[in-house]
Amino acid sequence: MKITDQYKKGLCPISFEIFPPKGELHPEDARLVLSGLKELSPAYISVTCSAGGTGGSSKKTAELSGIVQNEFGITAAAHITGINAKKADVDAAISDIKAHGISNILALRGDRIEGAEPGDFRYGAELISYLRKSPEAAGLTIGAGCYPEGHVDCESFDKDLDHLKEKADAGAEFLISQLFFENESYYRFIDKARAKGVTLPVDAGIMPIMGKSQITRMVFLCGASLPAPVVRILAKYENDPEALRSACLDYAAAQIIGLIESGAADGIHIYSMNKPDVAKALVSEVRNARH
Ligand code: FAD
Repeated sequence: MKITDQYKKGLCPISFEIFPPKGELHPEDARLVLSGLKELSPAYISVTCSAGGTGGSSKKTAELSGIVQNEFGITAAAHITGINAKKADVDAAISDIKAHGISNILALRGDRIEGAEPGDFRYGAELISYLRKSPEAAGLTIGAGCYPEGHVDCESFDKDLDHLKEKADAGAEFLISQLFFENESYYRFIDKARAKGVTLPVDAGIMPIMGKSQITRMVFLCGASLPAPVVRILAKYENDPEALRSACLDYAAAQIIGLIESGAADGIHIYSMNKPDVAKALVSEVRNARH
């Protein structure tokens, strides 16, 4: 299924991301994660790819995407990164992805990796543009990343939006947002992106917080800001993991409900960190509140 078809029903579908950490997620562990996520009837599952080298890690991403789609019957979106990839690496990655029957990809620059040799693509837009012209990638539905608070490296929020428009013009068909903890920043972003002429459907990225160290690391990596209510939750339940988990799930559920009710998100993409129990608790809270 083309991921873009899911938006036509206007139901704000829910999807998940799974990741092979450093390219490794043993297929048996992946199957356990996927059995749990399947119960939630996801619109699709995206599978990350380490930018450390398209060779081994892109093969793992293609394999895992194949398991998602062919064994579990869930539409998969395979991530592909360009920052350390040569054109031949990208061609090989696309050929692997297609060999597994995957027809949706998320094309990204990729996280910078210290010491890695630069590839042929400096930005996501260059990779998307290359893929659009490549006969190898013909017929693929291509998504791109977007950043409600601006990308960590961006010169300015406004310039980041110009670069987002470049990805749309290069041929991206849908967007998945970076995680954010304050819906207001997402609403601001959507208004500004639409004003720039970015009309693509956007899945809003939500990550349930599972602990202080996890969130500190994520915030450091992606530059998302932690609003005061989240900081208060982290401080209040610092020594009570159960209460912390429950308060953080409530917070993420409230974010999702707010996004759905605002109509500003075309879909919700949950960064479920390979934890189906967390995904299940979160999605049931959202579905119960809305029925
Ligand atoms: P780009 O559009 O390439 O932008 C990156 C930076 O460059 C921005 O600051 C932008 O403003 C700037 N820029 C863009 N074009 C220009 C230009 N022409 N001139 C000057 N500056 C420019 N990383 C991984 O390694 N593997 C993954 O699987 C992965 N999955 C992700 C999934 C999602 C949904 C998201 C949002 C991010 C993911 N990332 C992943 C992280 C992502 O690869 C990094 O944040 C990367 O740095 C940005 O890639 P991009 O293609 O989205 O951004």
